[in-house]
Amino acid sequence: MKVLKFGGTSVGSPERMRQVADISCSVKGAKIIVLSALSGTTNALVKIGECLTDNDWQGARQEIESLYNHYLDFYKGLLSEDALRGKALKMIDEHFNFIRSLTDKSFDENLTKELLAQGELMSTKLFSYYLSEKGIDNCMLSALEFMAIDQNDEPDIDYIRTNLTKLLKKHPGHDLYITQGYICLNANQKIDNLKRGGSDYTASLIGAAVDAEIVQIWTDIDGMHNNDPRVVDKTKPVARLSFDEASELAYFGAKILHPSSILPAKQFSIPVQLKNTMDPEAFGTLISSDEQTKEVKAIAAKDGITAIKIKSARMLLAYGFLRNIFEIFERYRTPIDMITTSEVAVSLTIDNNAHLAEIIEELQTLGEVTVDENQTIICIVGNEVVSQRGIVKKIFNALENIPKRMISYGGSKYNISILTETAYKKEALSALNEELFDFA
Ligand code: ADP
Ligand code: ASP
Ligand code: MG
Repeated sequence: MKVLKFGGTSVGSPERMRQVADISCSVKGAKIIVLSALSGTTNALVKIGECLTDNDWQGARQEIESLYNHYLDFYKGLLSEDALRGKALKMIDEHFNFIRSLTDKSFDENLTKELLAQGELMSTKLFSYYLSEKGIDNCMLSALEFMAIDQNDEPDIDYIRTNLTKLLKKHPGHDLYITQGYICLNANQKIDNLKRGGSDYTASLIGAAVDAEIVQIWTDIDGMHNNDPRVVDKTKPVARLSFDEASELAYFGAKILHPSSILPAKQFSIPVQLKNTMDPEAFGTLISSDEQTKEVKAIAAKDGITAIKIKSARMLLAYGFLRNIFEIFERYRTPIDMITTSEVAVSLTIDNNAHLAEIIEELQTLGEVTVDENQTIICIVGNEVVSQRGIVKKIFNALENIPKRMISYGGSKYNISILTETAYKKEALSALNEELFDFA
């Protein structure tokens, strides 16, 4: 079995969705196609949810009707047979009637999640209708029947495997299965999701659950680039990455992959290929457990970071100090990304400020606390990057004029990280691009 995931832009227009059908059919053997919502849909649904939360009924209605019109145009551009067009219109109306009904209800977290699920539910049905119109056999598997997260919002791989295997047995003999990315059930059996960009995660979880031959992530760029193409002018695709290199890049901001999406593939040694829907011939990136060359592969940057410094007069030989600090973060389920220590102080970073006020209050019982928001982690990734001769000198040369708040070296052999103010991100990424990569 192969797993092919297509992101929002890949299904963003009727032409693109047709191309997805062509690519899917050109891949030999049985496959599960995982689809995102049509591009812009999840953002629009988030906006509708915000309007509803703020009791802005008029704003919500405007957003809903503009999204509805987009879907009317879409299905007319995609389908030509009257019967299928009728089916598509009925389906779109059902979903939008549900969305419209939310303006009359008291809105809560469960309804927000159900609202956010509508995009993937509609895109997969539209794709299935298109394949049917073309006479291509296909079978819809509802993600809500097998994709699940537990009380800690972590995917429950045993549940996923058991239920997906059962579902596939119930619908044997198809070459092309379709399912929704992103959406799942939570521990309370309510509709939930795998966080923004979560369709990549769906694909690798399915890959792990069915022991897939390969997971292909089809998107709008020819693989993982050596630097963030949204920030730096000149970037190039990286042909091969190890699971560890790809995990670091995804976790530290390479938007092409959901931060957790490589973990299941790594755990079950399933190769992941990143491919460009707009240029299917391009090689893209192959992520696998193969031995990697020792070089800097790519740079990523993660914004929205808060640095916290805790200064204690009694750090020297004060065992238990770090444990006390970590316990506070654990209590508020807030992961720490970077950490540096000196004799009297500890600096660390978090990317989730939901409990910042409570965390600071508790940390103040341990020492003097300083907080810097709007920070960015810049992460230089490559196999054995830390043992490369001269690498630190090159990094510091490039970042000569950039203020550095924290530096992390040696935590893993794949990654050197530097924390700076977000205002310096573009300058830092561009300077590192010049210094560390050859574009000849
Ligand atoms: P999809 O909708 O297919 O999931 P995303 O927008 O989530 O696509 O991811 C693809 C985008 O990721 C690219 O268009 C690119 O702008 C961005 N991106 C950020 N960093 C990188 C990188 N290092 N390599 C490739 N793309 C990157
Ligand atoms: N549609 C969801 C989002 O936009 C999930 C995804 O595309 O991966 O975040
Ligand atoms: Mg994405």
